Amino acid sequence: MTNKNLYLSRAQLLSELNRCLGCKTKPCMNACPVNCNPQEFIAKAKENDFAGAVEAITRNNPMGQTCGLICPDKFCMHACTRAAIDFPINIPRVQATILEKYRTAESAAHAKLPANGKKIAVIGAGPAGIAATSELSKLGYKVVLFEGFEKIGGALNLIPDSRLPFEVIAKDWSFVDDPEMIELRLNTQVSDPAAMLTEGFDGIIVATGEPDSVDLGVEGEEYAVSYLDYLRRPGQYKTDGNVAVVGGGAVATDCALTAVENGAENVEMFIRRRVSDMRVTAEERKSLLEAGVDLTTMTKIKKIGADGSLITLYTCKNRFNRGKLEEIPDTTIARPGFSLVVKAIGSSAPRPEDSDRIIYAGDCKHGGSTIVEALASGREAAAKLDDCLSS
Ligand SMILES: Cc1cc2nc3c(=O)[nH]c(=O)nc-3n(C[C@H](O)[C@H](O)[C@H](O)COP(=O)(O)OP(=O)(O)OC[C@H]3O[C@@H](n4cnc5c(N)ncnc54)[C@H](O)[C@@H]3O)c2cc1C
Ligand code: SF4
Repeated sequence: MTNKNLYLSRAQLLSELNRCLGCKTKPCMNACPVNCNPQEFIAKAKENDFAGAVEAITRNNPMGQTCGLICPDKFCMHACTRAAIDFPINIPRVQATILEKYRTAESAAHAKLPANGKKIAVIGAGPAGIAATSELSKLGYKVVLFEGFEKIGGALNLIPDSRLPFEVIAKDWSFVDDPEMIELRLNTQVSDPAAMLTEGFDGIIVATGEPDSVDLGVEGEEYAVSYLDYLRRPGQYKTDGNVAVVGGGAVATDCALTAVENGAENVEMFIRRRVSDMRVTAEERKSLLEAGVDLTTMTKIKKIGADGSLITLYTCKNRFNRGKLEEIPDTTIARPGFSLVVKAIGSSAPRPEDSDRIIYAGDCKHGGSTIVEALASGREAAAKLDDCLSS
């Protein structure tokens, strides 16, 4: 994969700032799930008030730099008025660059209420849990943030380093962390959230993500590795042979690019629908093309077989019939010779319901989403718990 420069140069930043039209209707803000206001932070940065820009970005977003690197273009950029003239402002990169270059403890500080004597357990240190922790600590709650894994970030840790280095997640966290109000307990799996209500906690937020990879449901499933296993330990699956990735979304894209980066000779994505249906950003599409990943579309996996150390995929072609996807009969072929097959067709988890003083947030509540939607959900859960404990 090409080693991309993650931030804008000073000249690129100024050029992006100057392209902003300062729209009074703020379509960019209205499209942002955490109500971040690009019009405001861009205007401040244009006036050289970078401290004010940092304050505006971090006011509603505790992971603004991480969002700046990985937010998809379907939110603020999609709404940007400038797109009708030439192309949208690269708002996420402007945001990431401002925070990388100008964030200080003072500029990122926000008003906090005094401690109210209540204690909350937040379970899961992904974006939803981090947002809930940030919000509750500002409202005066003591928070213990429990994380089963050895580091914070949740599913963000599965994103390849070239797109999101862990240091960026850690940097965002360093501005949330407040030793007086927050205690982070890593490597601590919580098995019974409800029991914590009898262990000194006044309320619980559960933000445990969507930990199960969806199966293909075909014979020979065991020959395919789940994207979770693959992206957690890509080094363990390194191969210079042929890699098949089943799936056509952003996660499948990360798997394919990781396989290229790890030296695979050929990487082929097997996608049920058309290229135009792929749920990826323009940048992700470009990365796939640049990396030489082959896209085999309108294709269904029927069966997986093994021949010695190599794997064979049995595939058939799909077509649309009155808008519904169906198999084309008699099109099954064998595609032998894969060293590795990765399945990346989605994730799942049981959908829980909120109960008295136990509020769910993020992907475990709404299903696989995006960082900024998980952050919005974490903030919403914190507000709901605060309402419940204040009434
Ligand atoms: C490969 C990949 C690429 C992605 N790329 C993008 C992207 O480019 N842009 C984007 O916006 N989004 C992307 N996403 C989606 C984004 O990462 C998720 O939507 C987001 O992380 C969900 O946040 P969450 O806090 O709800 O859950 P998670 O991030 O899954 O965090 C849940 C946390 O809870 C912990 N946990 C679970 N059970 C327990 C327990 N019992 N006790 C203690 N801790 C527990 C887990 O260890 C984990 O740390 C990507 C996801 C993946 C997998
Ligand atoms: S929509 Fe685009 S042009 Fe308008 S204020 Fe937002 S960033 Fe600027």
